[in-house]
Amino acid sequence: MLDKPKSNTTNMLDTPVAQRMPREIAPGVFWIGDCLAQRHKGKSYHGYNAAFLVAGKTASCLVETGHPKDFPVIEQHMNELFARGVAPLKYLFVTHQETPHCGGLGRVLKTFPDALLYGDVSDYHLAFPQYEHRMRWMKEGDEIDLGGRSLMAVEPVIRDLRTTWWGFDTKERVLFPGDGFAYSHYHEDGHCGLVAEEAVSLDLPDVSSTFADLALFWTKFADMNVYCDRLDHLIERLDVKVIAPTHGLPITDVKATVPKVQEGLKLAALMPESGTNEKVVQPGAAAS
Ligand SMILES: [Zn+2]
Ligand SMILES: [Zn+2]
Repeated sequence: MLDKPKSNTTNMLDTPVAQRMPREIAPGVFWIGDCLAQRHKGKSYHGYNAAFLVAGKTASCLVETGHPKDFPVIEQHMNELFARGVAPLKYLFVTHQETPHCGGLGRVLKTFPDALLYGDVSDYHLAFPQYEHRMRWMKEGDEIDLGGRSLMAVEPVIRDLRTTWWGFDTKERVLFPGDGFAYSHYHEDGHCGLVAEEAVSLDLPDVSSTFADLALFWTKFADMNVYCDRLDHLIERLDVKVIAPTHGLPITDVKATVPKVQEGLKLAALMPESGTNEKVVQPGAAAS
């Protein structure tokens, strides 16, 4: 492991998370990117659109690209790692075609002209026809060899789009579940840059159910017990040690933390959908 973030909470609040990354969450697996600020319940509610760099002996693979606004930060974090001797970027794996996951795809392919894009690559050629020859399809079980470890496409249990694949690092057994394990965090509580087990004041069932309510509407109409059982099955089959979600805090104690997130998914399924927009009456609008 290279370095750890400062443990002093006051320092953590003062220092933007972009300045405290990269953070190595497992040997050779680096968490990079920045928070995305929103307001919720009168507090500064943060989301992640995280990216991760998985470094093998001969090549590195970027998992997700971060939010479009984050590309300068992501590029800076990667360049810091390459300057420290991390293997060059040869692969980009994105879980699916939504902006928070692949919004920096064109810039990554432009900036790293040797990098190939892997995943379900539906439609990317329509946005970037100039890079079509660098796009490679994956299906479940396919692996990208990084030298001493590989990035494998695995079953996407909780997903937004049908084109989703989850990623899995075969060496440190890190799962990259895209929209799975999605939850936000509170800036004022010093949660930024922490793994889930360090953010002791974060109510995981609450923030998980809020995220599902706002972003994964289909969880209202599905039996989430079935999905949670399937998640348990996948985690056991792959012997997952660390979970690196795109929107949630990384999970380093799978046994202790996964049940709390699952509790949130099951809670959200029981609540009526609140919708993604706040219902604000516009001045001058006729009352109905
Ligand atoms: Zn997402
Ligand atoms: Zn934050």
